[in-house]
Amino acid sequence: MSKIRVYELARITGLSTKDLMEKLKELGVEVKTHMSTIDKEIAKIIEETLTEEKKEEKREHQEVTQPIEEREEKKAVVLKPRPPVVTVMGHVDHGKTTLLDTIRKTNVAEREAGGITQKIGASVVERGGKKIVFIDTPGHEAFTKMRARGAQVTDIAVLVVAADDGVKPQTIEAVNHARAAGVPIIVAINKIDKPNANVEKTKRELAEIGLIPEEWGGDTICVEVSAKKGTGVDELLDMIIFLAEYMELKAEVDVPAEGYILESRLDKGKGPIADVIVKKGVLKRGDIILTKSAYGRVRAMFDDKGRQVNEAGPSMPVEVIGLNSLAEAGDKFRVIESEKEAKEIVEAYFEEIREKKLATKPKKLTLEELLKQVKSEETRELRLVVKTNSQGELDALIPILERLSTEEIKVKCIHGGIGNINENDVMLASASEAIIIGFNVKVDPTAKQEAEREGVQIRLYQIIYDVEEDIKAAMIGMLKPKYEEVILGRAEVRAVFKVKGGKVAGCYVLDGNIVRNAQARVKRKDAVLFEGKISSLKRFKDDVKEVAKGFECGIGIEGFSDFEVGDIIEAFEVREVRRTTL
Ligand code: GDP
Repeated sequence: MSKIRVYELARITGLSTKDLMEKLKELGVEVKTHMSTIDKEIAKIIEETLTEEKKEEKREHQEVTQPIEEREEKKAVVLKPRPPVVTVMGHVDHGKTTLLDTIRKTNVAEREAGGITQKIGASVVERGGKKIVFIDTPGHEAFTKMRARGAQVTDIAVLVVAADDGVKPQTIEAVNHARAAGVPIIVAINKIDKPNANVEKTKRELAEIGLIPEEWGGDTICVEVSAKKGTGVDELLDMIIFLAEYMELKAEVDVPAEGYILESRLDKGKGPIADVIVKKGVLKRGDIILTKSAYGRVRAMFDDKGRQVNEAGPSMPVEVIGLNSLAEAGDKFRVIESEKEAKEIVEAYFEEIREKKLATKPKKLTLEELLKQVKSEETRELRLVVKTNSQGELDALIPILERLSTEEIKVKCIHGGIGNINENDVMLASASEAIIIGFNVKVDPTAKQEAEREGVQIRLYQIIYDVEEDIKAAMIGMLKPKYEEVILGRAEVRAVFKVKGGKVAGCYVLDGNIVRNAQARVKRKDAVLFEGKISSLKRFKDDVKEVAKGFECGIGIEGFSDFEVGDIIEAFEVREVRRTTL
């Protein structure tokens, strides 16, 4: 007898998998997970029962709700299910772009087929009448960049792992980024069409990094696909829908629209264009939209198929025309009532920036800056992001650097990777106040710009000895300075005079100089009686700054007046001495 999986039946019946599983339980059908199978005949009976129930519910619902809605003027918060927003991540060349292309090409709704897909930052695909929104830029770089700006747009991450290559450094990175954001992961084991594909081995490697496939008793959904051939792609979409339903993604609709800017660009004819994704509420044509740095009335909106639309609900991406200037990617937008108010808010923001620019210098994460930080008794940790040309170099370099740690300063490599220094490394360094060390690698142009903007220091080397020496020098710079006392001069008390408010000592300078405002100690027969500041220094009646050896002077010391003839006054100063060894 042929069988059907629970999630497939859910799609047919239009129920969420969760609801369906509850219903099945009620009907006495035992299922464990969404992957469990049911006999097709039983499924058919269930489907019919559910359709009947639904019809009745609808009738009842209409009868009950109609009069109430009419009576009630104020509505409660209305939460409506919204489509999931998905980002595709994974190691380079594992097939992220191909997968996105295949999904976009094959799963547009029929009436839309043939419509040209516009690049508006995200694409909407449909499966069984349900929508999924895919962020167009794959990879965790874009994902983290948005997140760094405070925009958490993604609900689900699809991790693409090529079955002929397995888990690679960027796979792990992607997992860490998704986990850091608390975004659940669905794994797409890709390239299963390749003769050297090894799904089992890939799963083992996934399990090693904590992604234990469901069929092995874990809770990671793994779908085997070939992005190139289209195999398994529908199942992947089903899994996304299943997970989204399980997550019960909902958004308020009866509120002024809010969302995020995905991208923005300038069009010669249309002016500034912003690609946005709505988070809650419904964005409508004619709404006044406000971001941190731009505002305007929505003159026109286009969906990802290039069609003009009048409304965009939660999770929907649209291209918006009508802003007065370019909005920044990752910025939040909201709809407000008055255009005048929007203008004022944006103007106030720019004013604030101007003031801030005047008041602050850009933050710099140079070694010198770290030195200052250390002086202020903060962390004594030299954090490094290390990039090398090969795994061998990385494995060699990291321990060498970390072994430079002393009791006073810890050298910590917070991230090690292979390949050129990219934007992602810069962002990580910026967020962790680290310095980037590149060994036999180059810096991507965008990373260079980002580093300049963020004030992150990048140091490039070709010889291990140079790295070591430089890091040692940096660590010496981070050492707490030593303090040394320097004797400036000594004077002998020859007479004691009473003055207003105390006594001064009439002295003869034995050696060096006595300096006003310097520290001084009063010694009597080698015992120190007092230490304090020289508050007054006179030659005859005149205030002076300094008196040299062989001259007489009057010395007053703050907080002390018990001078006796024969006391020695020693002037000294504490100097900071830079340390030159670790
Ligand atoms: P990305 O760097 O992760 O975006 O990877 P791409 O999508 O650019 O794919 C890298 C290479 O792998 C390209 O040559 C693709 O044609 C190929 N590729 C992607 N998916 C598959 C697949 O399922 N099977 C095979 N055989 N090749 C694939």
